[in-house]
Amino acid sequence: MKYRCSVCNAIFISKDVSSCPFCFSSKDFIYEVDKEVNEQKEVFLNAVKISEDNYGVMRDNTKCIDCGICRETCNLMCGLDFKNDTSRCLACGQCITTCPTNALRPKDSYLRVKELLKNKIGICYTSPAVRVSIGENYGYEAGSFMQGKLVALLKKLGFKYVFDTTFGADLTVMEEATELVNHLKNGDSGPMFSSCCPAWVKYAQNECPELVQNISTCKSPIAMQGAIIEKYFLPKINVRKEDVVTVAITPCTAKKMEIKLEGIFGTDEVVTVLELASWAKMDGIDFKNLADEEYDNLFKEGSGAGVIFGMTGGVCEATLRTTYHLMTGKDLEQLVFEDVRGLKNVKEASIDIDGFKVNVLVVHKIKELSKVIEKIKLREKDYHFVEVMNCEGGCVGGGGQPKIFGDSLKVKEARAKGLEKRDLNNKVRFSYDNPDIIRIYQEYLEYPGSNVAKEILHKCQESVKN
Ligand code: SF4
Ligand code: SF4
Ligand code: SF4
Repeated sequence: MKYRCSVCNAIFISKDVSSCPFCFSSKDFIYEVDKEVNEQKEVFLNAVKISEDNYGVMRDNTKCIDCGICRETCNLMCGLDFKNDTSRCLACGQCITTCPTNALRPKDSYLRVKELLKNKIGICYTSPAVRVSIGENYGYEAGSFMQGKLVALLKKLGFKYVFDTTFGADLTVMEEATELVNHLKNGDSGPMFSSCCPAWVKYAQNECPELVQNISTCKSPIAMQGAIIEKYFLPKINVRKEDVVTVAITPCTAKKMEIKLEGIFGTDEVVTVLELASWAKMDGIDFKNLADEEYDNLFKEGSGAGVIFGMTGGVCEATLRTTYHLMTGKDLEQLVFEDVRGLKNVKEASIDIDGFKVNVLVVHKIKELSKVIEKIKLREKDYHFVEVMNCEGGCVGGGGQPKIFGDSLKVKEARAKGLEKRDLNNKVRFSYDNPDIIRIYQEYLEYPGSNVAKEILHKCQESVKN
């Protein structure tokens, strides 16, 4: 009889199934794989269709009970029902979050990374929303700020350098705010849309292509971080790209798709929080008893503005803080925009910048975009900046986050509160005050929107291969 281990995904033939022969997980994680049953189950009537070449999500057909919950979730969260046209899938993984049998899960990358780390130097960087959810795997409350243990875990798993993607978020803010200032000064038509959520960008390409031209050209924080590591950090430490493996640790399955896009470089793999928990378990790491460790220099510091990128409204708030500074030369005094915080799906705010009224719109849970899309297209209101995040709550609700049992809104809210608290207590609240950001522009990028910044930190709205 053939068996599969749901922790490490190994398939094996054995008489003894008291534990997995590869990762030693207990028999609770082992189940029979019957080839005939597997093949019969290829035909699903209710399940959402996931193609073999989907970069973000995979399904174990042997576990699927064809309940259709994934399809309902896709419709509820993304407003999609694409039947056999799998090219419309956003790889966002929202369907993973509700699958009752764990048949759906992030496309595995961690086993490959584990293998690569045997011969290569490991460099990873962790997205803001990971540090407020990873603890849930170990019994901590949602929103518990676990940055120190997260760094320690990644060091234990074999990464030589562990960096903070909050640096990448701050860099995105610098470039995006500069782009917004130009957009406002030039009087460009229509709002500028945020670009850091790859599921939203793909949604726009598929469902509302007329909006694509108004999406910011900035790459996302992980893509900027990867580019800086390849072009600036590796030459600085005199290491060749082929001798390292660069890994983004994210709450997001769609990032697995993003790193395959043309023009995106520097990040080899994306590992989600769900995968990280499986990996830690496989390596027998006692997360609770890890002593806190710090991120490595050169990308150690993140501002409060970068941290809130992980929640709905955060990109907008962070971008406005720097936009205000670029337009007035002053620091914004009222940093928190209560109107764009919280889990209301569509939020609006206005800010006066030197007599110019800037209107912003924030949408999360992408299905909700349909409620305002006509308003935007018909210019019923003059919006200047629109933040769109595919997942409910933004990245705190990503498809690669720990599964939520119980009140999911409450958990997402608690994760967001963890980020808000960090912003509030951060010494540096503005991206332009982050010392690592100041240094990267002085030593390499020159200034936001420079030719070198455009070349490595911006993109055309290229087609998605998934
Ligand atoms: S939710 Fe999971 S078990 Fe149910 S149909 Fe979808 S993949 Fe299958
Ligand atoms: S990954 Fe997202 S878009 Fe694709 S089926 Fe799942 S919920 Fe729908
Ligand atoms: S909202 Fe965040 S986690 Fe969700 S798809 Fe977009 S980038 Fe990924």
